[in-house]
Amino acid sequence: MTTFHSTRSKTDSLTSKQAIRKGIADDGGLFVTDSLGETTVDVASLVGKSYQDIAFAVLSVLLPDFGEDELRECIGAAYGEQWSDDRITPVRPLGDDFVMELFNGPTCAFKDVALQILPRFMSHTVSEHGDDEKIMIVTATSGDTGKAALAGFADAPGTGITVFYPEGRVSPVQQLQMTTQAGDNVGVCAVRGNFDDAQTQVKKIFGDAAFNARLAQEDHVVLSSANSINVGRLVPQVVYYFSAYAQLVEAGDIELGEQLEFVVPTGNFGDILAGYYAKLLGLPVRKLTVASDKNNVLFDFLTTGTYNRQRPFFQTISPSMDILISSNLERMLYYMSEKDSRLISMLMTDLNDWGAYEVPPELLRRIRTVFNTGWADEDQVRAMIADCWNEHGYVIDPHTACGYFVMHEMPREENTKRVLLATASPYKFPRVVDEALGLDASGSDFECMDVLSKATGTAIPAMLRNLEDAPVRFDDVVDVDGMESYVGDCAARL
Ligand SMILES: *Cc1c(COP(=O)(O)O)cnc(C)c1O
Repeated sequence: MTTFHSTRSKTDSLTSKQAIRKGIADDGGLFVTDSLGETTVDVASLVGKSYQDIAFAVLSVLLPDFGEDELRECIGAAYGEQWSDDRITPVRPLGDDFVMELFNGPTCAFKDVALQILPRFMSHTVSEHGDDEKIMIVTATSGDTGKAALAGFADAPGTGITVFYPEGRVSPVQQLQMTTQAGDNVGVCAVRGNFDDAQTQVKKIFGDAAFNARLAQEDHVVLSSANSINVGRLVPQVVYYFSAYAQLVEAGDIELGEQLEFVVPTGNFGDILAGYYAKLLGLPVRKLTVASDKNNVLFDFLTTGTYNRQRPFFQTISPSMDILISSNLERMLYYMSEKDSRLISMLMTDLNDWGAYEVPPELLRRIRTVFNTGWADEDQVRAMIADCWNEHGYVIDPHTACGYFVMHEMPREENTKRVLLATASPYKFPRVVDEALGLDASGSDFECMDVLSKATGTAIPAMLRNLEDAPVRFDDVVDVDGMESYVGDCAARL
C-alpha cells in the first residue's frame, strides 16, 4: 500500500488523493512515500507509445489509488488539443546534444505540464466534509505560475482560483495573460507592494483560522495552494523524462539502457526532482544537472554542503528562477538520506531559526553522485541566447539559456548524451531575446515579438500575440490589507 507522510515525521498515512487535496503536511513538511521505487516502470515498453500512454504507465505507479478510468480521464483532458505539438514535450537535436521543449502548452511555460492536470486530479479527491465543499486556490505570482494556474483551474468543477500579482512588477505580456483570463471561477488582482509582500500575505490568509472557518461555514469553501510542493504538481513532471527517453530510443539516437544526463534550469527544485523520481523508477539517468541563475543558492549548497538563504536577492532576466528557498530540495534530501525524517526535521528547523543548515559530508558526497551543478550570470545568459541561435539556429528563452550555459561549461561525462530542458517559449521574453540577438527592441512587447519572428523565421504562439487585442476582464488593485476580503468576495461567488 502506497501511503504518504511528511518529510519531517512518519506518523501520517495518507492516500495520494488525500495528499493532493491537503497540499502540505501539518508540520510544514512535504508529502513523500516510502514506496517510491519499489515498483519500477518498464522503459522498453514505452518506446513508440504516445505521451498519454506513457503518462498512464508512469502515473499509475505514482498514484495507485486513482482508478484506471479516472487517470485516463485526467490525462486525456490535460494533454489534448490545448498543446501545440502532439508529442506534448517534443525532443529535438541541438548539435551533439538534445533539447526537450516543455513550453508547448496553453501558457507557453513548463508549468503547464503540471497545472493542466492538477485541477483534474483535485476534482477526483473528495473532501472529508462532503461533496459540496469547494476548493479555492489562492496564489501569489511573480509571473508564470499565476497564468498557468489560472489556465488550469478556469471552470474546473468544484474549484475556484484567486491570483495576486505585484502591481507594475510583472511584464506587460504576463499581466495581460492574467487579466484577460476567461472563466466564471477566476479572480485576478494587482497588489500594491512587491512579490514578497503578496506572498507573505497569502500565507497569512491561509493561517487566519477565523477567516477560514467563516469561508467553510458560509460558502463551503476550503483554501488550498497550487504551488510546486503539491504531490499533484510534482508527479506529472516525472512523465516527460520517460517521454524524452522513449523518443530518443525511437529515433535511434540512443540504445535502450543507455544512460542520459538531463540539464535543468532550476528554481524551486520541482522540475529536477521529478527527474530524480524518474531515476528511482528505473529510468537510465547518469546525472541530473542543476542550472541556476545569479541566485545561486543551490550551486553553493551542492558544492559546499551548506544551504544559506541569508544572501542578497537578485531580480534577473530569468524571474522564474529567482528563488532563495528551494522548497522541493527537502524531498531530495529525504530520499538521499535514506528517508531520515529526523535529520530533515532538524535541518528545516535550522533553516527556519538560523536561515541556514549544513548536511553531513557523507550525505553531500552521495548527492553529488547524482547531481551536478552550475550557474550563469545575466551577461552569460544573453551571450548564450545569441550563441544558441548562431550555432544551432534555435531560439531559447533566458531560463533555458542558464541551462545551455551550464551544459557547455561542464565537460561531458564519458560520452553521455545530454538533454537540455527548455522551460519557456522565447516569445514570453521577447524584449530580452531581441536585445541578446542584437535586434531592435525599442517597441512594445508585441512589436518585439514581431521583430523576433521576422528575424528568426519562427512562429509567434497565437495565444501570446492575440493578447494585444484580448479584452481585459480584471483591473482590480488592492493594498496588502485588502487581499483577504478580495479572496472572500471570490469565494462568495463560487
Ligand atoms: C518555474 C520555472 C522554472 C523553475 O522550475 P522549478 O521546478 O521551480 O525548479 C524554470 N524556468 C521557467 C520558465 C519556469 O517557469
